Amino acid sequence: MLVVMQAQATEDQVRAVSQKIEALGYRAHPMPGAQRTAIGITGNKGEVESGTLEEMPGVQEVIRVSKPYKLVSRDTKPDNTVVKFPGSQVTIGGPDLAIIAGPCGIETRDQAFKIAERVARAGARFFRGGAYKPRTSPYSFQGLGEEGLKIMAEIRDQFGLLIVTEAVDYESLDLVDQYADVIQIGARNMQNFSLLKRAGRARKPVLLKRGISATLEEFLMAAEYIMSEGNYNIVLCERGVRTFTDHTRNTLDLSIVPAVQRLSHLPIIVDPSHGTGKRNKVTPLSRAAVAVGADGLIVEVHHDPDRALSDGMQSLFPDQFDALMQQVKQIAAVLGRNVPIKSNVPTELTNSAD
Ligand code: PEP
Ligand code: MN
Repeated sequence: MLVVMQAQATEDQVRAVSQKIEALGYRAHPMPGAQRTAIGITGNKGEVESGTLEEMPGVQEVIRVSKPYKLVSRDTKPDNTVVKFPGSQVTIGGPDLAIIAGPCGIETRDQAFKIAERVARAGARFFRGGAYKPRTSPYSFQGLGEEGLKIMAEIRDQFGLLIVTEAVDYESLDLVDQYADVIQIGARNMQNFSLLKRAGRARKPVLLKRGISATLEEFLMAAEYIMSEGNYNIVLCERGVRTFTDHTRNTLDLSIVPAVQRLSHLPIIVDPSHGTGKRNKVTPLSRAAVAVGADGLIVEVHHDPDRALSDGMQSLFPDQFDALMQQVKQIAAVLGRNVPIKSNVPTELTNSAD
């Protein structure tokens, strides 16, 4: 159920309706929009008795939401969600594209700093790097754990980059929530419902990657799990799905971008690195992702990919990332969007860089 407030409803009226919903034993999710506020109702087993709510001051109508996902739906919130970061001008889902770049995994402090310096200089506003790696083999590099998170926290301080990193279980989620700016939930965990609920109770925005064979509805329902726990700052990410093709690691399903935008108010970005698995395809698919209307990119970059401990084959060299930034900036302009490319690295660092 959804309570649609009148355009001129006051904050007090919104609060009173929310309190009434809670008093009835449900959970209220007020969603302010440009035109009006809607209040999503969850926790109800059957139909909510709407009469009492309909009569309250400021209420326009009480409607049933027929889709299985409610809070992530555009029916609930017609305006795009723009994720904001406290103390920063950076957003995800607004006119600026969010460019997230960095290595697959944090390997050493030196490796992470070298790459961070280059991606910051190229104009990325977010640094990615795994401290907890979900690897197919238990014998592959599993990540540095909390040590990796500490390195990324230092990178934020030094380069002003916002940190995006994956949590794989409860314990790592609590630590990522503490150290990072965005909590990544990986493809393999997209339907780990208890982890999704835990992410819904975290303070930081969540980057939710599409499962390896998830349908659009399953993807949106996973986001609904997070949102139903009260975390409204979610960014979806298309990262390729498994198909019969063998010329790429996965098949990047760019058509899901407009499909999501039609049904949901949440931002969606694209990962052309895992989506293709091949370095020579990352730049063309990044261009395509921006052209299709994605809200950003998450790209793996490594200064020495041949020696990377994970995903070297799909990591761009820093020079290639520089070129990619210039290209996507031009494509974004066609769509009235911007890639904020001005370097945000302190001058003394830029001068001393190789
Ligand atoms: C990653 O971002 O390094 C990663 C493991 O991604 P995914 O969950 O999409 O495979
Ligand atoms: Mn990777």
